[in-house]
Amino acid sequence: MNTQAIDALFVHAFKRSGAFFVKGKGMYLVDADKKKYLDFGSGIAVNALGHAHPALIKAIAEQSQKLLHVSNLYFCKPQIALAKKILAKSFGEKIFFCNSGTEANEAAIKFARKQASLVSKTKYHVLSFTDGFHGRTYGALAATAQIKFHEGFGPMPAGFHYSPFNDVLAAKKILKSQEFAAIIVEPVQGESGVHRVSQEFISFLRDYATKNKIALIFDEIQCGMGRTGTLWHYEQLGVVPDMMTLAKPLGGGLPLGAVVCTAKSVAAIEPGDHGTTFGGNPLACALGETVLDIVSKKSFLKDVKSKGNYLAGKLAALAATYPIIAQVRASGLLVGVELKTDPLPLVAALMKNGLITIKAGHNTIRFIPPLIAAWDDIEKAVEIFEKTIATVG
Ligand code: PLP
Repeated sequence: MNTQAIDALFVHAFKRSGAFFVKGKGMYLVDADKKKYLDFGSGIAVNALGHAHPALIKAIAEQSQKLLHVSNLYFCKPQIALAKKILAKSFGEKIFFCNSGTEANEAAIKFARKQASLVSKTKYHVLSFTDGFHGRTYGALAATAQIKFHEGFGPMPAGFHYSPFNDVLAAKKILKSQEFAAIIVEPVQGESGVHRVSQEFISFLRDYATKNKIALIFDEIQCGMGRTGTLWHYEQLGVVPDMMTLAKPLGGGLPLGAVVCTAKSVAAIEPGDHGTTFGGNPLACALGETVLDIVSKKSFLKDVKSKGNYLAGKLAALAATYPIIAQVRASGLLVGVELKTDPLPLVAALMKNGLITIKAGHNTIRFIPPLIAAWDDIEKAVEIFEKTIATVG
């Protein structure tokens, strides 16, 4: 296959590996040469139920015979069913559906600004934290405190401010400098290499936001929906946000995002203030309900936690033999192996040996398998990792 000619067809926005997948089943992907890969990337944290899950196939078959699209001018059954279930299982009192993570953050920021505009015309500032990732559209991009993503795309929208992650004193200082409408934070930073928010920091943000009528938004697009061993990551923090954004695994592989909100945080929003043609589409919502039903089971979540701990423990133990490993950080089945060298050669070598992983930040390899990963799959992934790192590091 001439990958160069194929690559020439597309806007050069992605650095793609040469792999060309044609099908998947469970934990495995198969390429055009019939080679099998153990998938510990889940299409960047999307395929929580792996590939061709029978429950998803059934939901697609049933819903596709009924309705694919109606627009948000009307109600539809799958959207109502999914809304009810997410709200029943979370702090949320209201929900807004959209198509992606960046759109969910965009909507959350707009909701917060509209609400704050009732207090003061200058209460529109948004605070976010270094190395967070919130998306590629302008609001979410401006909230992404990583300047490399802004370069060449300026000017960014006004009113976005950044502070170091997990630094209470710095956040306190900047929060006093402007009238803030929103604070947006990834409770576990995924793209930058699996960094968890500290208890002290998140408790401070919650307190400050409440006292100053600022919307606290948790971006759980990567760390929510069971990924870290509880349905929502905030459950592990003992603090509840005003809004929580979701996407990635929510649509079972179809584009679906959501903003889960308290009623108070979106009281200012009126018909026409915000919208989407496709958001909350019946087919994506039918898949969303299927995913949610499976990943929200207590026994399933308990398994995610213990398998994540096991995987992280096994990988951490390899550091004694392979000094190229600097640190292992984990939250459930979101596991980052920080290396002392550029991780890309190892990611490529793992791929060659049939294990898909994903680079995170500049020095970390991310293991984000489908949440259905069995113990055997975890053992196999560790085995391939050890075999491969022995040749690279
Ligand atoms: N927020 C987080 C935490 C993410 O990890 C991502 C994507 O990687 C996004 C937002 C953006 O999501 P999307 O690519 O669906 O727009």
